[in-house]
Order: sequence, then structure tokens, then C-alpha cells
Amino acid sequence: SDGGDGGESMEIVPGTAPGFPPFEFNDDSGELVGFDIDLLSAVVEETDYTLADWEEFEFDSLIPALQNDRIDVIAAAMTITEDRQETIAFSNPYYNADQAILVPAGGEFQPSSLDDLAGQTVGAQEGTTGAGVIESELVEPGDVQQSNFRTYGNYVLAVQDLENGNVDALVIDQPVAQTFADQRDVEIAFVYETGERYGFGLRQGESDVQSALNEGLQAVRESGQYEEIRNEWFGG
Ligand code: GLN
Repeated sequence: SDGGDGGESMEIVPGTAPGFPPFEFNDDSGELVGFDIDLLSAVVEETDYTLADWEEFEFDSLIPALQNDRIDVIAAAMTITEDRQETIAFSNPYYNADQAILVPAGGEFQPSSLDDLAGQTVGAQEGTTGAGVIESELVEPGDVQQSNFRTYGNYVLAVQDLENGNVDALVIDQPVAQTFADQRDVEIAFVYETGERYGFGLRQGESDVQSALNEGLQAVRESGQYEEIRNEWFGG
């Protein structure tokens, strides 16, 4: 160990937003589990830092929590975007994803492109790239009215609304859409390719933590741990 930077704690407080299976969710006993939980733990194991207890927030509150020093790292399937990079930094990418359009299983409404969502009610979790797709591709062009754009604190509530017929379609990260499709009465209508990459969110200017996590990430890839964790949560 290099002893840290002038006596500051070498403990990292991780923050996440459960309700996004299989990346982070509460299991039947209420325990926080998932791919991100296992991956960040394995990554930090490879560094001189230690991981404190997880703090849970709604997705939209994670960046403010990071900026207010309530947490030190975000592990929440967060896409690296230029917008977010104006306020926070990211680790190297650790997972790729596109968006998927989720509809009630076996229903009459079977859209095959964003055009088919014109005039419908559509929803997403607040502050996500999925919500961004609805905003820029459907609401701004006028295909979906602002009043027909439903936002949710988390996707579990959104999926409930979809099952109950209160919203016609959701836009949500494809791997999570697939998990909900496996567990709930919903299905993927089509995938909308966005080429997103997830990174751990960090405060700007903390290059020590950033390099440590990037080196840890590389170590867990090389050791085969990354693949083990991926297989555990995604099968294969
Ligand atoms: N990847 C998406 C985003 O960054 C959704 C993340 C999430 O809902 N946890 O906006």
C-alpha cells in the first residue's frame, strides 16, 4: 500500500439503485445482490481500498449523492454519457447494452420500431438513457405527447404499470428488459440499438480511485473472475 493521500480513509462507500435486475436488486430476503455488487466487490479486492456498506438511492439521486460525498462510487449499470461526464468521471467501461422496448406479454400491441410508438403512452425510469430516448426520439418530434410520457422512480414500478395496462410500452436497458421478461408478464417487442457502455461513476479529479478501479477491473478480467460473475448473473 502507498498509504493513501495524507491520512484520508482508504474506504470507498459504494452507492447503487436497486430494482434493476440482474445488476442490482433486493433478493427474496431483502438482501442487496447482483452483477454490479459482485463486480465492484471483486474489483476493489484487487486494490488497496476497502469497500464500505452499500448505500441505496433512487437512480436519479446517485449523481447528487456522489457530489455531496455521501458515496464515493456509483455502481448502478450507469451508462457513460457526455452529459454525465460534464459533472462526474467514470471508470473504464465494464458492460455493453442497448435499449429494449418492453410491452405486455402476448398483447395486441406489437411495435417493431419507434415509429410504432407514436400516439401511445410510453414510460421509463427517471434520469435514464431510456428516458432520454423517449424525450429525444418521441416527445421532441411530437410523436408522443409530453402528458403521455410516464416517468417512474424505478423500473419495478414501471413494469407493474405495464402489467396493469396503465402504460403501453417501456424503454429500458436490454439486459434488464430480458430479466423482467423472464420473470414477469411482459416481453421485449424490439431492441433499439444505442451502443451504451456502463462505467463506475466517480467524482472528477479523484484520479487515484479511478486508476485503482481501472487496474482492478483489468485484474478481474484477466483472472477469469469477470467471466465467472457474468455467468452467475446472466448464465452461459
Ligand atoms: N443504463 C441506463 C442509464 O445509465 C439505466 C441505468 C439504471 O436504470 N440503473 O441511464
